[in-house]
Amino acid sequence: MENTSLEIVKLLKSKGHSAYWAGGCVRDMLLGTQPKDYDIVTSAKPDEIEKLLEHTIPIGKEFGVILAVKNGHHFEIATFRSDSGYSDGRRPDAITFTHAEDDAKRRDFTINGLFFDPIEKKLHDFVDGKRDIADKIIKFIGDPHERILEDHLRIIRAIRFKSTLDFQYHPDTYKAIKHHSHLSAKVSGERLRDELNKMIAGDNPIRAFSDMEDTGVLQHVIPELVELKGVAQPLEFHHEGDVWDHTMQCLKSLQPHHTLRERWAVLFHDIAKPKTFAQKERIRYDKHPEESAKMATKILDRLKFPRAFIKEVAWAIEHHFNMKQIIEMEKGRQRKWFLHKEFPTLMTVFKADIAGTTPSDYTMFNTLSEIYELAKKELGDGPKKLITGEEVMEILGMSPGAKVGEILDEIHERQLAGEIKTKKDAIRWVSGRE
Ligand code: ATP
Ligand code: MG
Repeated sequence: MENTSLEIVKLLKSKGHSAYWAGGCVRDMLLGTQPKDYDIVTSAKPDEIEKLLEHTIPIGKEFGVILAVKNGHHFEIATFRSDSGYSDGRRPDAITFTHAEDDAKRRDFTINGLFFDPIEKKLHDFVDGKRDIADKIIKFIGDPHERILEDHLRIIRAIRFKSTLDFQYHPDTYKAIKHHSHLSAKVSGERLRDELNKMIAGDNPIRAFSDMEDTGVLQHVIPELVELKGVAQPLEFHHEGDVWDHTMQCLKSLQPHHTLRERWAVLFHDIAKPKTFAQKERIRYDKHPEESAKMATKILDRLKFPRAFIKEVAWAIEHHFNMKQIIEMEKGRQRKWFLHKEFPTLMTVFKADIAGTTPSDYTMFNTLSEIYELAKKELGDGPKKLITGEEVMEILGMSPGAKVGEILDEIHERQLAGEIKTKKDAIRWVSGRE
């Protein structure tokens, strides 16, 4: 990818344009980390870029951004531009094609405003970005208040970069995001989702959520999480603190390989504890798994997550209290759970829930893990279908309906339990029914 982006820069320069690597990739290079992608800025206009490169997609041509596909990689190539007027706090009303320095100055933070010429190996720093990378400081380019009023997402991005890069705020950055925290409520669900995903998948999601809470941003983005603060847990099981502390400790236990689904399920597994809190013979939160699944569905829907994603996260949350029940259940039914597509997510929630509890007791989890691993070996992708709905209807002289599905389900469970092995067994079992 790096070589291909170098080729593109070479090509643009050979036609007399200036061209640089820009933004995130230059920052990551200076930090000694692997850039995720190489964005290119150039004096070439969109039409010229399209002419020069074979495969292009005009993803943001009105803003001067062309996507180029080369050697199986994607590159955003953007014409130097400055933005004028942000009446909606999001998108510039108009853009003007201009020179490199103006383009650097329209960017959000100094650390994201650097250009690098990969051929001359020369850094172009119009914003003192190099110094701020060395000092590990998140500092707005220009006046923080104006920059936040232009695009409110920058509040969230400041928090995101601080947590994923492990930087600190410039004092003016902190003051400004705190002062304008309420504006984060106006950011669209999609844009929030993309930044929150980066926070939750980063090395320090706890820092991100704590910072959002501290600056007042969380109140406007996911107020349901703020509610976890100060909600007591029964001391005989939880020494870690309140539900917020528990949730953060759960999140902290996740490893880099965990998926976004697993992360969001862990974050929201107890989100309904404030709502269901009750003092009975001890502190209880009756039905909190089901309620949490409902609340998570609402929140993720607000954040414009895809339907399937929401359903899967909600399923794991809804069942996060079922560990004992699954261990004790009859083999066939148990194996049906194991074959559920999101069962690995549920296992992650079970485990994180324990890791987030002080003292942690993994006894039950280890038992379930053993049964699950053994079953996985035996099951593969699960038994194949031995009998069709049509055959069931014919044997029993039934008409189509929910009952047929129930019978097929039961056959499946008995297959999983090893009671039905062949088509003959299945037919015999169906025939023996009332
Ligand atoms: P990552 O490595 O997470 O992708 P990045 O710095 O590449 O980080 P992007 O969101 O991909 O971040 O944006 C690319 C560049 O575009 C940024 O480095 C920054 O210069 C500029 N940019 C992105 N979003 C904004 C914004 N909301 N306001 C101003 N500049 C922005
Ligand atoms: Mg990027």
